[in-house]
Amino acid sequence: MTGSGARILFHAMAVGAVMTERPATSQGVIDAVLIESKSGRQAVRGRFFIDASGDGDLAAWAGVPWEKAPPIDGMMYPSLMFRINGVDVNRAGPAPWRTVERLMDEAERAGTHTFPRKKPIVRPQRNPLEWRANLTQLRREDGGAIDGTDVDELTRGELIGRQQALDAFAFIRDRTPGFEDSYIVDIAPQIGIRETRRIVGPYQLTEDDVLGCADFDDTIGVNGWPVEAHVAGTVEFRWQRDPRGYNQLPFRILLPGNVGNLYVAGRCASMTHGAQSAARVTGPCFVMGEAAGTAARMALSAGLPGDAIDVQELQRRLQDQGAYLGRTAPEPIR
Ligand SMILES: Cc1cc2nc3c(=O)[nH]c(=O)nc-3n(C[C@H](O)[C@H](O)[C@H](O)COP(=O)(O)OP(=O)(O)OC[C@H]3O[C@@H](n4cnc5c(N)ncnc54)[C@H](O)[C@@H]3O)c2cc1C
Repeated sequence: MTGSGARILFHAMAVGAVMTERPATSQGVIDAVLIESKSGRQAVRGRFFIDASGDGDLAAWAGVPWEKAPPIDGMMYPSLMFRINGVDVNRAGPAPWRTVERLMDEAERAGTHTFPRKKPIVRPQRNPLEWRANLTQLRREDGGAIDGTDVDELTRGELIGRQQALDAFAFIRDRTPGFEDSYIVDIAPQIGIRETRRIVGPYQLTEDDVLGCADFDDTIGVNGWPVEAHVAGTVEFRWQRDPRGYNQLPFRILLPGNVGNLYVAGRCASMTHGAQSAARVTGPCFVMGEAAGTAARMALSAGLPGDAIDVQELQRRLQDQGAYLGRTAPEPIR
């Protein structure tokens, strides 16, 4: 990024958008993003914008239609992750992550413990002394998922997340062979949000596209992750029906429809709740980010709105950059 000449701005929060008053086209045009930081309130003006906020913040301020699943029986639950260090690898045995899940199930059946979430992901890192723990589930008082676009709910999530991390760690340390002298080495600096706003663009990727491994003429890359739904109390997986195991991602999921100088990339792109439960993970988010950046450059140099660029040329550029569009069998990893 620094090598490209981009000006980077850390420690700044986008808080609003200013639209051009009378755009030349029927689509809205963003003139500036308002930011707040230690330097005060400022406006960053631009000719093209990419909303990769995860929450579709800029899109929402610019008037792009969006949807959000209901907190109860809908939106996926967030988690606060932490890492454990000081594990005795020899005492822990060959597959100790299974032990943690078994011990938790046994404790629940015995009635001694109730855990916020089943299916813990407690796994060794590259250095096996160190383990990552993904097993918290952050709820509102009514049991619904914490909403990552509400500051009060985010605050509650930070508080209960830390309590859940401490409780879970104490259980693991006290019961799992090899963890007797372990300790929490760090807790994520903020809770991890899985789902909030998703824009509703000209095409919404669907769960059926994911499970049926759909192809699209305007492919920009692939998603190879199944549906991983963080529902109340557990995690549900739904796997692709086709052994190929991946779906293509269409360029159209980046398009906001009614705003001409904006792309929306990442977990807030135009996907249904079911599709987002798969394509929200990092691989497809990389795909969307690269395509949005490449396409924005094309739109800017051609002086065109974001939805009017030459998609075949975009695909050529992405392939030249080494992107995999999912049209040929993937090359084996060596
Ligand atoms: C607990 C947890 C575990 C996960 N585990 C995995 C895993 O093992 N493998 C995997 O592939 N995926 C995993 N995921 C999913 C994946 O990490 C995310 O879905 C993905 O990173 C989303 O990418 P994104 O670019 O859309 O958003 P993000 O990665 O969230 O990036 C958004 C960025 O925008 C910034 N931002 C947001 N709003 C503003 C604003 N208003 N102003 C300024 N900056 C702003 C944020 O600070 C952030 O840096 C996990 C998610 C969670 C929550």
